[in-house]
Amino acid sequence: MRAAVLHGFGKLVVDEVADPVPRPDEVVVDVTCVQPSVTECGLVLGEPIAMHAQLARALADGPVRFGGHEFCGVVSEAGADSGVAVGATVTAVETIHCGRCAACRRARPDACARPEFIGFTRPGAFAERVAVPAASVVPVPAGVSASAVAAIQPLAGAIHAHAEADIRPGESVLVIGAGVMGLLAIQVARHGNAGVVIVAGRSPAKLALAERFGADVVLGADADVRRAVRDATDGIGADVVIETAGGPPEAGLAGVATLDLAARCVRRGGRIVMVSVLPQRFEAPVGLLRERSVALLHPRSGAGGYSPAASVFEYALRLVARGDVDVESLVTHRLHGIDALPEAVEMTANKAAHGAINPVQVVLP
Ligand SMILES: [Zn+2]
Repeated sequence: MRAAVLHGFGKLVVDEVADPVPRPDEVVVDVTCVQPSVTECGLVLGEPIAMHAQLARALADGPVRFGGHEFCGVVSEAGADSGVAVGATVTAVETIHCGRCAACRRARPDACARPEFIGFTRPGAFAERVAVPAASVVPVPAGVSASAVAAIQPLAGAIHAHAEADIRPGESVLVIGAGVMGLLAIQVARHGNAGVVIVAGRSPAKLALAERFGADVVLGADADVRRAVRDATDGIGADVVIETAGGPPEAGLAGVATLDLAARCVRRGGRIVMVSVLPQRFEAPVGLLRERSVALLHPRSGAGGYSPAASVFEYALRLVARGDVDVESLVTHRLHGIDALPEAVEMTANKAAHGAINPVQVVLP
């Protein structure tokens, strides 16, 4: 079969590789749609994020199979002990806890000391076929497209962020950023139990989507966000701020100023959930946060923990199946055939330049 192989940073090539063979507790999935995550794009380019050091060590020994944990496919082979039916449409949870370390034995798989990651520590779905443990497989309900399934992991992340904020009925939510994570956060808040939902973004097209998704107050690039939030919350500030816009300006993101904005817009005793991935070290408004007793939180996925629960994926897929959350409107670009993977990675790494909202998807025949 054909699969993406990383021959060095910035050199992702689609090569002929051996077909996967399932172990008794695994299944082989024929990939129908896959999208690169923003983290994968950064790792391909050699950015010092996430598992960069591990990847650099592996590359020192030669080319490595790389990428592909956000995908949809059809089970084509099932190991004898898998309990999964051939022909089922599925996706998989990317983090596989070891089940044997001290954390796993204490029922804390989110703190597993030796987790595996599909597409990083084992071959992933940047390929025509991928073998995954049956325990990680998530069945896809009827009526959800392959494209929506491949885009489900960011929605699971948005659900984790919402859960972390522990929003009580009617609480106000400010979402900073109207990119894919911001637009998902708005929809989850709307169909969760939020009261007034406010969004601050820059792109008129994305803000129009935010309005369609149920944001009550939509603030563009020229808005005085702090004042507008005060006005919408009877002068006290937002109960919860979901921050999704920070990150490198060269990738079209808003730098590190978003945490300052969040700290100025949240109410006394409120919560800020940091969804974006900011640099390891930067100047932060710690004094202001302490003075106002604001909790700074991180979702379980993306930073500070793993999200191995298939139940969140199942819930996310149900939200899409019911039409409560629209992920397909966020998928602006699709390429065809496995050989288009390097181009999809390049375009996803430069989403702003290509006018893409969701990562660029690759559809397989
Ligand atoms: Zn473990």
